[in-house]
Amino acid sequence: MMYAQVVAINTEKPRWTSTCRDCGKCEKACPQHIEIRSEFRKVRRDLEGPGMLLLSGITRPLVNRIHSKS
Ligand code: SF4
Repeated sequence: MMYAQVVAINTEKPRWTSTCRDCGKCEKACPQHIEIRSEFRKVRRDLEGPGMLLLSGITRPLVNRIHSKS
């Protein structure tokens, strides 16, 4: 749930790794040669299942409503 809060709920726009287009530009630019696309696949498998997407889709509008009132 903390992951969903960081990438999709408490953000202006959701940033799921599933939005990655697999272009590889980030890997070419990464000075540490991290295999970002491979890491994203693991994140997608472990943290971005249908249940999490559904839960964050329900939670996000509620959180946005609370933030807009404060
Ligand atoms: S591969 Fe990297 S640069 Fe390309 S869309 Fe995915 S995260 Fe962005």
